[in-house]
Amino acid sequence: MDFRPTDEQQLLRRTVREFAETEIRPHVREWDEQQHFPRELVAKLAALGLMGIQIAEQYGGAALSAIDYCICIEEIARVDPAVALSLAAHNGLCSAHIAFFGTGEQKQRFLAPLARGDKVGAWGLTESSSGSDAAGMRTSAARAGDCWVLNGSKTFTTHGRIGDVMVVMAVTSRGEGTKGISAFIVERGTSGMTPGKKEDKLGMRASDTSEVLFDSCRIPMDQLLGEEGQGFVNTMEVLDAGRIGIAALAVGLAQGAYEAALAYARERRAFGKPISSFQAIQFKLADAATRIEGARLLTYRAAALKERGQRTTLESAMAKLYASEIAVRVAEDCVQIHGGYGFVKDYPAEKYFRDVKLLTIGEGTSEIQRLVIARRLLAR
Ligand SMILES: Cc1cc2nc3c(=O)[nH]c(=O)nc-3n(C[C@H](O)[C@H](O)[C@H](O)COP(=O)(O)OP(=O)(O)OC[C@H]3O[C@@H](n4cnc5c(N)ncnc54)[C@H](O)[C@@H]3O)c2cc1C
Repeated sequence: MDFRPTDEQQLLRRTVREFAETEIRPHVREWDEQQHFPRELVAKLAALGLMGIQIAEQYGGAALSAIDYCICIEEIARVDPAVALSLAAHNGLCSAHIAFFGTGEQKQRFLAPLARGDKVGAWGLTESSSGSDAAGMRTSAARAGDCWVLNGSKTFTTHGRIGDVMVVMAVTSRGEGTKGISAFIVERGTSGMTPGKKEDKLGMRASDTSEVLFDSCRIPMDQLLGEEGQGFVNTMEVLDAGRIGIAALAVGLAQGAYEAALAYARERRAFGKPISSFQAIQFKLADAATRIEGARLLTYRAAALKERGQRTTLESAMAKLYASEIAVRVAEDCVQIHGGYGFVKDYPAEKYFRDVKLLTIGEGTSEIQRLVIARRLLAR
């Protein structure tokens, strides 16, 4: 295995980092405080190819590799994890689901505007009474003449209020369990689809999260995504790829927190010395840097295997579990190294600490990752 970045990958990292520093860094606190999703940033993200990172060029995407995708998400998360979460939901869930399972016509109609950044994507699996147990969903879709009629609601949908195109999972054949679930593409503005309550969150506050309600929402037959009854099976494949993106987000967030802690440790003085001269601080920095490298390698391994066309259920779960859990520790140590200044909004430490917790929950909690990993190990 050779994980040395190519010249193109080094250039990609520098370009995305510079973009994040100039276009995002100055606004991070304001967007967080106002829970403002920066719609005005979307065209700039699109100009860089970040709204269609892995989408084929024929649909207006940047056609980058799975490792390139990780680099992009990492570099945005290093500066603002909330913007990275929005990118991960748009690219790694909504667009990926259409790219993997859509027809050519669906890709032209829905994927191309998503990849160009003309539209923002959302993806709805979770419901108020079914998160980890996603197959227990209640939202239904029934045939009625030349339409599907959706009834139910989705919870915690990233871009639930601002998304233009949403992939929605619904039960089409009750009693058939995971084989009775199908996926649909629903456009904002469709009669019977309304955004519900916007969530007031601990962290990731610039990323829009809300309920989405479906009340006799009629959509044309040709907006069934993938085969009828395959929606849940396809969702698992989308999540295998999506979890690599969340792992990359965790690596980037941890990197940002580590760099903030390192800079602060060099400048803050106590007992007549920089605090970086104390072994207790040095050990925290050493542990953080080591954990980040480990998480990055697990993440790139999963991405490299995906790039080769391999199914990565085990590797994605391992990367997501490890990267999100070390990111929580790194963000906590970042606050600790900042002392009292880690607890106030003048420094970035407190925001990394609030944002990071989502990563052990979204796209499958740490407990669910452990279940996935254990099942794979025991099946060997
Ligand atoms: C900011 C944010 C953005 C999100 N974006 C999206 C999105 O865009 N689309 C979407 O569909 N969803 C989204 N989600 C939902 C997210 O994926 C779910 O919250 C997550 O899967 C957990 O589901 P839950 O909240 O229902 O928790 P539950 O499933 O109720 O879990 C509660 C606790 O029980 C544990 N648990 C549950 N089952 C088991 C088990 N079998 N063994 C051991 N422990 C178990 C869990 O690990 C957890 O600790 C988002 C959530 C948040 C907070």
